[in-house]
Amino acid sequence: STCDPWTAISAVIRKKLQGYVGFANLPNQVHRKSVKKGFHFTVMIVGESGLGKSTLVNTLFGTTLYPNKGETEPSDETPKTVEIQSLSADIEENGVKLRLTVVDTPGFGDFVNNEESWKPILENIEARFDAYLEQENRVNRRKMVDNRVHACIYFIAPTGHSLKPLDVEFMRRLHTKVNLIPVIAKSDTLTEDEIKQFKQRILDDIAYHKIQIYQAPQYEYDDQETLAENREIISKIPFAIVGSDKEVELPDGRRVRGRKYPWGVIEVDNEEHNDFVKLRQMLIRTHMEELKEHTNDVLYENYRSEKLVTMGVQQDQTVFKEVNPLAKMEEERALHEAKLQKMETEMKMVFQQKVQEKEAKLKQSEEELYARHKEMKDALEKQRLELEEKKRRLESGRPITPEKAKKKGFSFNNK
Ligand code: GDP
Repeated sequence: STCDPWTAISAVIRKKLQGYVGFANLPNQVHRKSVKKGFHFTVMIVGESGLGKSTLVNTLFGTTLYPNKGETEPSDETPKTVEIQSLSADIEENGVKLRLTVVDTPGFGDFVNNEESWKPILENIEARFDAYLEQENRVNRRKMVDNRVHACIYFIAPTGHSLKPLDVEFMRRLHTKVNLIPVIAKSDTLTEDEIKQFKQRILDDIAYHKIQIYQAPQYEYDDQETLAENREIISKIPFAIVGSDKEVELPDGRRVRGRKYPWGVIEVDNEEHNDFVKLRQMLIRTHMEELKEHTNDVLYENYRSEKLVTMGVQQDQTVFKEVNPLAKMEEERALHEAKLQKMETEMKMVFQQKVQEKEAKLKQSEEELYARHKEMKDALEKQRLELEEKKRRLESGRPITPEKAKKKGFSFNNK
C-alpha cells in the first residue's frame, strides 16, 4: 500500500519522501517538545541466529541499511560472546524527525553453553540506564540523550511446541528491565491452525513462568476506533511474522515484498498473511510513546531506585568498591589506627593535665594546712611566752594569794 510507514522510511532515507508515513500523526502529538526535538526510539532484536533477525531489520529499514547477511555464507570467524550492534537511521516527515535505532545481538543462543547468553544483553540494557542516570545527575540537563532500549523484540523459533529453556531464561531475566515483545519467527513455516495453537502455548508458558511481557494499557478516554485498533494489535501478540527483503511477482503482475512458494506467495505487508504490519504499527504508530513512557516511568524508575538503595547501603557500611578494594581497605585500616593513636595521645594529655591540677590543689591545701598549723603554733608559742613572763613576774614580785589567783583565772596547786 502507498501509506506504508516502513516503505516510506526507506524512501526518506533515499531522500525521496512520497506521501503519508504516519509517525507525524502519533496519538501523543500534543508532546510539542518531543516533536520539535525529534523522536528517538530504540528497538532491540534478540533471538537465535537463523531465525530471520537481519531479514526483519532489512524489512523494517530497507535493504540499503543492513548488510544482506541472509544470502551470504556464514563467516569463518565465530565470535565467542554475544555482540551488541546498533544501527540508526534518521527519518524526517513533514518536519517531524524520528531517529530509529535498532540494537542487534548476534551470537545469542549460538554457543555450546548458552546458560548466560542473556547476560551481555542485560548488561547492555543496564549500561544504557546508567548512562541516562549519569546525565540526570549532571547540573546541565539540557542536552539529555536517551539511548535506553524502549522495546525488545524476542524471536521464538517456529517449533510449534512450546518455549525453550533458553527463551524462558532470557525473558525471566529481562522482563523487569525492558518492554518484551515476543514474536514467532518465520511463521510462514507453520499453518494457520498451528500458529493459533502455538500462540496459546507460548502465552500459557509465559503466564506459568510469571513473565511480564509488554502489556499495552487501554485508556478509557481513547475513542472507539483507537480502542478497537489497540485491542486488535494486542490480540495478535506474540506476533507471527514473516520477513523478506525481496520482491516477488504475484499472478496479477504486482510486485510485493514476500516469499514465494509452489502453492503461492506470502506477502510481508499483507495483514491477512502475517502479523508483521501489526508489529510495525504498534512500534511506530500506536504505541511508540507508550513504550517510551513505560520504559521511563516504570522500568527505568525501578532500576534507578534499586541502584540508589544499593549505593546507600554501601555508604552505610563504608565499603569502598574502588579500583583495588584490598588496598582501599588497608588504607582505611591505617587511617583508623592513626585516628585511634591520636585519640589515645589526647586522652593521655588530658589525664596528665587533670592529675597536675589535682596535685596542685592538694599542694595548695597542704600549704594552707601548714600555714594554719604554723599560725596556731605561733599563737600557742606566743601564749606560752606570755605565761612564762607572767610566771616570772609573779615569782619575782608579790606572792599572789589563792583567792586572787582564782579571781584572775589561774589554777594551780598551792602547796
Ligand atoms: P538471523 O541469523 O536471525 O539474522 O537470520 P537471517 O535474517 O540471516 O535469516 C536466516 C535465513 O532465514 C535466511 O535464509 C533468510 O532468507 C531466511 N528467513 C528470514 N526470514 C524468514 C521468514 O520469515 N520465513 C522464512 N521461511 N525464512 C526466512
